[in-house]
Amino acid sequence: MQEKCTIVVGSGISGLTMALLQAQRGKRVVLVEKLPFIGGYMRRFTRNGLRYDTGFHFTGGNGGVLQQILNALDFRLEDFQISLLPTEVYLAEDGTYFRFPNQGLDALCDAMCKAFPSSAAALRRYYEAELACVVNTPLYDLKLLKDLNMFTGMTEYDGFTVNGFMDKLGIENTALRTLLPIMALCHGTPPGEASFSYHCRCSYSLDCSISTIAGGSDVFLRSFERKFKEYGVEVLTNCHIERLNISETAPLCKEVVLSNGSSLPVERIFFAIHPAEILPLLPERFISRSIKRRFDALKPTCSCFVVHGYFDQDCKVPEIYSIFLDKNDLDAFLLPGANGSSICLITSNDPANRCATFTLFSAMFADDCPPYNGEQYADFKARTADRLMKIVYERYPEYRGRMHIGDTSTPYTLQRYSPPIGSAYGTRQILAQSRIAGSLPVGNCYNLGHHAQFPGVLGCIMSAMMLNQSIQE
Ligand SMILES: Cc1cc2nc3c(=O)[nH]c(=O)nc-3n(C[C@H](O)[C@H](O)[C@H](O)COP(=O)(O)OP(=O)(O)OC[C@H]3O[C@@H](n4cnc5c(N)ncnc54)[C@H](O)[C@@H]3O)c2cc1C
Repeated sequence: MQEKCTIVVGSGISGLTMALLQAQRGKRVVLVEKLPFIGGYMRRFTRNGLRYDTGFHFTGGNGGVLQQILNALDFRLEDFQISLLPTEVYLAEDGTYFRFPNQGLDALCDAMCKAFPSSAAALRRYYEAELACVVNTPLYDLKLLKDLNMFTGMTEYDGFTVNGFMDKLGIENTALRTLLPIMALCHGTPPGEASFSYHCRCSYSLDCSISTIAGGSDVFLRSFERKFKEYGVEVLTNCHIERLNISETAPLCKEVVLSNGSSLPVERIFFAIHPAEILPLLPERFISRSIKRRFDALKPTCSCFVVHGYFDQDCKVPEIYSIFLDKNDLDAFLLPGANGSSICLITSNDPANRCATFTLFSAMFADDCPPYNGEQYADFKARTADRLMKIVYERYPEYRGRMHIGDTSTPYTLQRYSPPIGSAYGTRQILAQSRIAGSLPVGNCYNLGHHAQFPGVLGCIMSAMMLNQSIQE
């Protein structure tokens, strides 16, 4: 009889991590990926000989959880050259400029109090609360994973949106209300919707220190590939699940039928894909009306318009992450129909490239773009790229004429990396809305990934670790 498999569906960072963790537990693992390539948003691409990142430019956790993660995955630490990434914010509406100290939460709190002295007391309470949200959360200390009971999943701060919590603290200054939760741009749920505790769990490590890894996501992908060889993880690309064969006696999947015509006996299935792709596979008899409502209520985070480009070869460019906002209202950028410009510029001196490169993002939804490849599409891309470049040149006139566009992409492009929606950070985690995370209605099937729990590369890895840890043999 064939050995039962652990099937992992989707090979983004969430699926890759779960596949490795299960293999490390001695399971026979088959990783199923619909596209011809593994990686999801971790896939880099090449234009004119230059390597560009898609969905991994920087991360948090330098000096803390990032090293713990690399150790836990048993990756070669010497492959990961981590450097701090200077980070700054410009708010055009009132000329506010702020540079993140990148030296931990206390240093950030001190710098914010210096910049906004009349709000110092409220700021100290804000950061104390941020710390309280992450203390005892295994996300920030893998040692705590051993005792999941320490992570109740709920804190007193789950009852407030970020904006609601700032109201409670009496923070009214619009520049401060934008700057304080600015890392919402990196998880995608607007401060008017996200619970304060969810926001803090996502932004804490970025607030403490933002860092880059030389070689970007290629370094992660190579490390996973090496480990998969070592543990015999089988990777099936251009493949998806056609059908789950469910036991008559218990709601358990005993076999999957794959699109390549084969079938595999199943121990467990981990779905690291969009919930809309999971629902049709679950037999109707297990889908109560309330579960269906939960699936239907999920809303995507924004996608992005992205300009990828390069500098003249002799142009000396420091690595930096600059955020420019023309309105003091993060909700306006992170919900459909944004009428302002949010721009994130990241410069890179990646050793893989012969010159410095840059990536310029602007939050956008597919509904805010003209139809893909329609008459206005090419024009829309060119106009949007010009508009974003103009804003960058206003801030950095010394780079005028020295930055060159290599390619542009829209939310439709991102759908080719993370089908079917192409949302940058999965589904929005809206206050009091039930999530679809962990166990699914078919007993041995689970859901993870940025649609389920936490977005971002660290968030996805930690979510996979928590789910893996919570499953008893
Ligand atoms: C432009 C952009 C910039 C970003 N920058 C950063 C950053 O700097 N730092 C950071 O930490 N995070 C960043 N993020 C967010 C981060 O990339 C994501 O949160 C994370 O990579 C999501 O990983 P995932 O595995 O959950 O999903 P995905 O990467 O979306 O992977 C899902 C995989 O499942 C496959 N799949 C889908 N449906 C099926 C199916 N039915 N069967 C089989 N396979 C299927 C897909 O093809 C894909 O390979 C960025 C995102 C974007 C879009």
